[in-house]
Amino acid sequence: MRFSLFRHAPALAGTGQECSSTRLPSLEYPLDLPPRVAVLGLSVRQQQGIHIFPEWNSQNLNKLRPTTLAGWQQDLEQVGRLCDSGHLALSDLNYPLLVFSTPEQGPLGEVAQAEMWRWSGVPVYEQIRTREGRLVAVECDTRNGFHLAEGSQAEGGDAPCNCGRGVRWLPALAESTAATRSIESEQYMAAAAGD
Ligand SMILES: [Zn+2]
Repeated sequence: MRFSLFRHAPALAGTGQECSSTRLPSLEYPLDLPPRVAVLGLSVRQQQGIHIFPEWNSQNLNKLRPTTLAGWQQDLEQVGRLCDSGHLALSDLNYPLLVFSTPEQGPLGEVAQAEMWRWSGVPVYEQIRTREGRLVAVECDTRNGFHLAEGSQAEGGDAPCNCGRGVRWLPALAESTAATRSIESEQYMAAAAGD
């Protein structure tokens, strides 16, 4: 059974490149890593092109001119508000955003993803991570739910996925997780499903 998801396998042991930070989670960007990736609110393994901002502000981002962003939902939503209000001008954004959600938050849902696409001008891929940053699941390339990261376990769908990358997991849509979902995400889901 394979849980591997994206186009390139994570660079794991044996590369000899990441001695000091091997205990940190890796970013697992779904494409070849573009230049000037700003990672907000999470310390990840150092790689060429990754700029880590455990704390960030608009000056950091205006100065870096990132080509993409990775960060927690609330951080990216704050970036969106700053862009909308004219405090940030991320004119070099050109690669899909990577948004992190905790298992408790659950997936963004289509409406929130579309909102991020609106202000950023680029698509969004989602990763489920624990608060410490450990990767739990990543969104399928084909938007067909999520795939569990290696070593992760969860209840939920186990149907094979169209993308050919192993088992599919649908965290937000599973009724068993409904109790832990926020009202906001319920609204997103309702809005996405309705109309
Ligand atoms: Zn898939």
